[in-house]
Amino acid sequence: MTLDLSSDRLMAALTGLTLAGMVSAAFDAFATPGPWGFAGLALVYLAGGVPAGGRALTALWRERVLDIDLLMVIAALAAAAVGAALEGAVLLTLFSLSTTLEHRAMGKARRAVEALMALRPDTALRRGADGRVAEVAVADLIPGEVVVLRPGARVPVDGLILEGEGSLDEATITGESMPVHKRPGAKVFEATVNLDGVLAVEVVHGVADSTVARMIALVTEAQTARAPSERFSEWFGQRYTVAVLAGSVLALIVFLWLGWGIHDALYRAATLLVAASPCAIVISVPAAILSALAAAARGGVLFKGGAALETLAVVDIFAFDKTGTLTTGRAEVTQFVTLVPEAGFLALIAGLEAQSEHPIADAIRRHAGERGIAPVLVGEVHSIPSEGVTGMTLDGPVWAGNPRMAERMRACIRAPEFAALADGTQTVVWLGRGTQVLGALSVTDRPRETSAAGLAALRAAGVGTIMMMTGDRRPVGLRIGAELGFAPGDIHADLLPQDKVRLVGELAARGKVAFVGDGVNDAAALARADVGIAMGAAGSEVALQAADVALLSDDMERLAAARRLARRTRAVIRQNLIFAMGAMAVLVTSSLFFALPLPLAVVGHEGGTVLVVLNGLRLLADPIRSDRQGGKKRGGT
Ligand code: ADP
Ligand code: MG
Repeated sequence: MTLDLSSDRLMAALTGLTLAGMVSAAFDAFATPGPWGFAGLALVYLAGGVPAGGRALTALWRERVLDIDLLMVIAALAAAAVGAALEGAVLLTLFSLSTTLEHRAMGKARRAVEALMALRPDTALRRGADGRVAEVAVADLIPGEVVVLRPGARVPVDGLILEGEGSLDEATITGESMPVHKRPGAKVFEATVNLDGVLAVEVVHGVADSTVARMIALVTEAQTARAPSERFSEWFGQRYTVAVLAGSVLALIVFLWLGWGIHDALYRAATLLVAASPCAIVISVPAAILSALAAAARGGVLFKGGAALETLAVVDIFAFDKTGTLTTGRAEVTQFVTLVPEAGFLALIAGLEAQSEHPIADAIRRHAGERGIAPVLVGEVHSIPSEGVTGMTLDGPVWAGNPRMAERMRACIRAPEFAALADGTQTVVWLGRGTQVLGALSVTDRPRETSAAGLAALRAAGVGTIMMMTGDRRPVGLRIGAELGFAPGDIHADLLPQDKVRLVGELAARGKVAFVGDGVNDAAALARADVGIAMGAAGSEVALQAADVALLSDDMERLAAARRLARRTRAVIRQNLIFAMGAMAVLVTSSLFFALPLPLAVVGHEGGTVLVVLNGLRLLADPIRSDRQGGKKRGGT
């Protein structure tokens, strides 16, 4: 059986024992030390010293790293050896207390996201083909099955509403406290709350790949992907620990050489060892980063690691995709011009777009559905990012897409019938069979309600360059751009995925670049950017994979809030490091030149460490939210 020395309960129990021992030792020490005093000291050294020593030795043996705990144990033993056992006990007690406190505090940051796990219901009401409802384990649900959600219940799986409408509280996923009203066809997410309607929902993901499962995986990933400054403080901590140990031995030799007694020399060397220990420095960075990651996650912004957080703080160039990112991605078909009967045209284009995840495809499918037109069965469908789709029907190959796609098919789209569409500021999709054009339709999409405010917040925060990069036509880009305050020079249109990558690369020569996108055609640019930010809930899986950050809420103002959090994190890390190094300098100087008593060195050292952790935790208390909601706080920590 292995004993987990870092379990919360065990640590707390050992600290309790250590404290009890300390009290007993301290009271009995006023007179000549009696049996209670000795028993108390023994308890402190056993409960406070042995676990720390055990941890340190395991680390040394298994991972070949010199743990800072080792310095504390050595100092306490040195104190005991020179007859200052009580002072050594003070050291061990405070050390045990502060380690337990830090562990709790850091655990709090970790648990903020893991708490989501607890929100996942275990059972769901499955409706069978015969219409009967039975309670089943959520893990047994498979895509395509239908579950019934009663009002007030947590949603058991990611799904699509088939019947019913009502409000859902999605705060667990998006951090958005306002309920969202949803109708048939809308997505619902696991672990959100169905407030008032009775909904029939089709399962689209098994629990293993639900949005919540993905969030948990992302955050777990985030905790292992270290930020550069975190790596530095670890590297530094390692080297430094060795240096402190060597330095203390050297000091001991010098003290002896100066003619001090062994007792004095050992006591002063032990004090120096404690004063110079880098506990506070090493914990400075993770305390801040973990708290910030958790705070961001609660606000619906998932960072895949500390590195992305640190980079976002220094980003001053933002590039945005248009469709599905700056715009809602919920487009509407507005006009069409066809050279064949309308119903046949719509059935064919809806059939082609049946499998596509693109917002345009969604608009076309919905439009055909509303008019009761059944899509034609189209096989061998391939999507060409930023151009359109191709496929095969019984009558031969067909395609749908933009002018670039038409050009690829050598189809002429300049017929006078299409002039009005082609000159407009709406997105146009052409349908063709080989070189023959069958018709075209236009689709229009609105900016997200939060886009303008989100961009304004970024500009106000001093972001120098904000660009739009779209695969759509320039007139459409200009129209949307004008609504959002883009200068025409900052709008790049008619881009292929590789053009986005090239443009991001060019921007990267001028400074750190963030790219914000949602689509398959954005994945490469997301990966190329210093920080790739994907539109989470609505975005494509590929974009999520390629990105460093996922925005689960579609509130664009969170972007500026996330950058603000990143900058505050950087400031807190800086404060922590300066404070920790300053405190250490004072302690070391006092122990070398002013005969600092060991207990004071311990108080200074452990106190500094706890302060640094608490300073980091401040970030946790203020989850990301947009300025619109800035006034009303949702229960802090
Ligand atoms: P954005 O970069 O603004 O997100 P995309 O690159 O995804 O836009 O799309 C660019 C253009 O490619 C669209 O405006 C459309 O004309 C065409 N297109 C892309 N996918 C499809 C599709 N599934 N069906 C029809 N046209 C498409
Ligand atoms: Mg897009």
